[in-house]
Amino acid sequence: MDNKPNNTNPRPPRSNTRGGNGGRNNRQNNNGNGGDQNGERKSGVSRGAAVRALKRTQMDAQRVANQYMPAPTDEKRRPNFIDDSPRLKIIGLGGMDGAGSKNMLLVEYVNDAVVLDCGNDLGVDLPGINYGIADTAYLENIKHKLRAYVITHGHLDHIGGLPHIVPKFPAPIYGSKFTIGRVEEIFENFGLPMPDGFELQTVTMNEDTHERLKIGEFYVELVRITHSIPGSTCIVLDTPVGRIINTGDFRFDPNPLDHERSDIERLKELGNEGVLALFSESTSTERLGRTPSESTLEQSFVDIIDQAPGRIFVGLFSTNMNRVQMIINAAVHHNRKIAMDGRSMVSTLEMAVRNGFMKVPKGTFVPIASVASMKDEEIVVVCTGSQGEPSSALQRMASGEHRHVKLKEQDTVILSSSPIPESGNDKLVGDMVDGLMSKGVHVFEHRYHDLDNVGPLHVSGHASRDEYAEMIEYTKPKFFVPIYGPFRSKSRHIDLAIEHGFPRANTLNVGNGEVIALTPDKMEVIGQVPSGTILVDQTGAVVSNVVVKDRVLLAEEGLVAVVITVDKKTGNLLTSPDIISRGFIYMREQEEIMNGLRNEVRRAVQQRFKRVDLDRFKAELKDHMTHYLFEQTQRSPIVIPVVNVIGGKGEASKTVHQSKTKSAEEIAAEQQARFQQMRERLLTQDARID
Ligand SMILES: [Zn+2]
Repeated sequence: MDNKPNNTNPRPPRSNTRGGNGGRNNRQNNNGNGGDQNGERKSGVSRGAAVRALKRTQMDAQRVANQYMPAPTDEKRRPNFIDDSPRLKIIGLGGMDGAGSKNMLLVEYVNDAVVLDCGNDLGVDLPGINYGIADTAYLENIKHKLRAYVITHGHLDHIGGLPHIVPKFPAPIYGSKFTIGRVEEIFENFGLPMPDGFELQTVTMNEDTHERLKIGEFYVELVRITHSIPGSTCIVLDTPVGRIINTGDFRFDPNPLDHERSDIERLKELGNEGVLALFSESTSTERLGRTPSESTLEQSFVDIIDQAPGRIFVGLFSTNMNRVQMIINAAVHHNRKIAMDGRSMVSTLEMAVRNGFMKVPKGTFVPIASVASMKDEEIVVVCTGSQGEPSSALQRMASGEHRHVKLKEQDTVILSSSPIPESGNDKLVGDMVDGLMSKGVHVFEHRYHDLDNVGPLHVSGHASRDEYAEMIEYTKPKFFVPIYGPFRSKSRHIDLAIEHGFPRANTLNVGNGEVIALTPDKMEVIGQVPSGTILVDQTGAVVSNVVVKDRVLLAEEGLVAVVITVDKKTGNLLTSPDIISRGFIYMREQEEIMNGLRNEVRRAVQQRFKRVDLDRFKAELKDHMTHYLFEQTQRSPIVIPVVNVIGGKGEASKTVHQSKTKSAEEIAAEQQARFQQMRERLLTQDARID
């Protein structure tokens, strides 16, 4: 949608920048014209102005919704290139833009294709939308070639698209043991039923033994790498054209808590054998130096627990199992019990314990419900909500809405995270900390740890510049493509490579959908395939862009419906028009406008009902109401006329749609039951250590 000049606006144009929640509600009065409804109203707003205003409002809504568009439908069936040459084609279907989420890289060679990572984008800020996934229209063209999904690690921005995409394009999913555990976990917790006959196929690979599995014409190997979730790996794909490496998310932590270091030796070996192209993640290529080791946090937790007078609550990312282990160790050391809270946390921990990734003495876990009855100095609660996410465990505690935990003075809260940059979470975290401190709770935030005179409480899971440079140095690729990040971060990644002597001509900064062709001595962009975002709601169902546009319109302008009943023969109204308004203006305070609207509707019925057919009448009525409301209020709500005609031939038969699928309540009840089971399993787990 193009942006028309706004210089004839009867009201100022709205800002289109929507950082966080900003931008949506910045309406201003316009020169007093229509701003004061109780004053003398200006008449004579032209119909044209009203129509233009309505159009503009719709375009605004469209622009907001269009930030996340599916692939254009006219291209949907066909990429704009035909290429049968034996070249390796690599396409970022997601992850090559924005915040670098919904990561998904397609590798295609003659008759074989594999997908590397298949994530979702949790950063979508649209009404009723939970996340976005990559538009896979292009996979439709090549689904007969698809041999596998290979996953670098178990974060949602690398696996969250799988339950949507794999059932449509079935193929086995390859990954390390922990990653496959995560994949199974998200399929189990997925809200929607899988299609009939679909069976999840997974292949667990050992990331330490350098095992290579044949997939079509490719060989795949996983190499252990450190990140912020266990079982993180680089993917090595040997193809007929040459070897490529996808680093996944990484840092080189020399001293990880689980002692599972990055397999740098193997990366060097692969480099010495020859790497055609390196596809390296680009999350924090602006950060100088090296990311500190996870082990630098250990003492901080011990120190805080040592000195805390009462209960301790730690908020952190739900999949960071090594850090959970660190906190468990510190708690056990201080003879405290652990209660876990937050569904995602409980779910991942249960999987990690079941698969032997955690070492927890028997009897360490206690149910969250029993926290209130335990002695304060005996308890550590590990929970979700370190980003201040609405309705997360910690957020509910901060706002006093938690079922089992009422915070009090002497409680200590540790936020073992940093607000995700540019996510708007800064404010969420700030508000939550307000709530916590107002209850007299002592809060430790990583970002102010110097102020609190404690050690660091969080380190990033991503590399800093020196480590990004080392990855290139170890693997010695011929070609270099930064991935999984916004354009600017990828651009800095390329600059970094060049600083270290890499020829610029052998690098590419590509967007989603751009097709990279690789031969042993050439890398180029040869075309574009459809790419975009599919929006998904809380239940897991796909939401059309059109629906989102309506929601934005509703959110911004509100809705006015008028229900009228007309005698077919006489064309007279049988009752007074019934006006329903939501989110538009408060009707009681605007009695005058609503009465005026009622009169306009009456007039329209008298003058037009018998002269035009019903559809035309409805359209005219809608137009008329829109015009009137704009004239009175300078707003363009969604207008819905409902016209009942009585005395015609045959009553319209009502169709009742009986939904065969499960209701939201049923799904919620099922999930509740499943999480209950997980909790119970956690409490009765076997001893795995001393
Ligand atoms: Zn990650």
